[in-house]
Amino acid sequence: MPRIAYVNGKYVRHGDAFVHVEDRGYQFADGVYEVIAVHGGVLVDEQGHLDRLGRSLAELAIAWPMPPKALKVVIGEMVRRNAIRDGFLYLQITRGVAPREHAFPTHAKSSCVMTARRTRPLDINEISRGVAVITIPDIRWKRCDIKAISLLPNCLGKQRAREAGAYEAWLVEAGGLITEGTSTNAWIVTAGGELVTRDTGAAILNGITRQAVMKLAGEEGIALVERPFGVDEAKAASEAFITSTTAFIRPVIRIDGVAIGGGGIGPICGRLIACYADYLFGQRAGP
Ligand code: PMP
Repeated sequence: MPRIAYVNGKYVRHGDAFVHVEDRGYQFADGVYEVIAVHGGVLVDEQGHLDRLGRSLAELAIAWPMPPKALKVVIGEMVRRNAIRDGFLYLQITRGVAPREHAFPTHAKSSCVMTARRTRPLDINEISRGVAVITIPDIRWKRCDIKAISLLPNCLGKQRAREAGAYEAWLVEAGGLITEGTSTNAWIVTAGGELVTRDTGAAILNGITRQAVMKLAGEEGIALVERPFGVDEAKAASEAFITSTTAFIRPVIRIDGVAIGGGGIGPICGRLIACYADYLFGQRAGP
């Protein structure tokens, strides 16, 4: 069965999916995106992703390419046409095609493309093994709350992580505070057992997985504080972990080579992974 992409109103073979050379996404990174997980054939937190998409579009004054309800139909159709049981749906909206000029075009119509890919089902043992992170300066723009497609600093950071043999790079502001990872939110558990993640604002993306984990932590009675934390505090933490749609929840067992906690998965992270897995399976069962 061929892989299918969606490009501005058409379902096409993935290999034949093209956008115009003067699409503003291509020339200016003038667009936004979402990545939605599919688990057991069900889109995880679809409404949360669409709400965040609406916010990103509004912040950049980009029009919806179609009403959100219609977008949902296309998303569902992409999952169906690609026979995705487990995998990810990528959705990108740009300001559209127009002669290259920095100021907004007056007549462009938003472009919308989607791709989907299958993955192996979530493997709790695999994600529980944990990952290493490095810390690097955060050189991104000052509106990281918008899920914009301008990801060059994130790509450079992730590449530095890969070259250092790490899974992720945590980004550090002037002053030594960690904002988030290049494609994940950052969390620690202090020696006192307090779960900490950066407060929302322009410095981080308010992850959908972050929001789900916050809710689960509340239900579990785990004390949670949304505040900034620094590199030194993170290295001294009893646990650390990352969250994102594609990484799920993964323990961080080394930061810049320093072992965190016992150098393995900690109890709070373990509990949250178990809760998140239940949450995913619950979504899968459907209402
Ligand atoms: N921060 C950044 C910079 C990201 O790119 C992502 C992934 N989209 C996240 C956090 C996590 O967000 P989510 O849980 O919605 O995938």
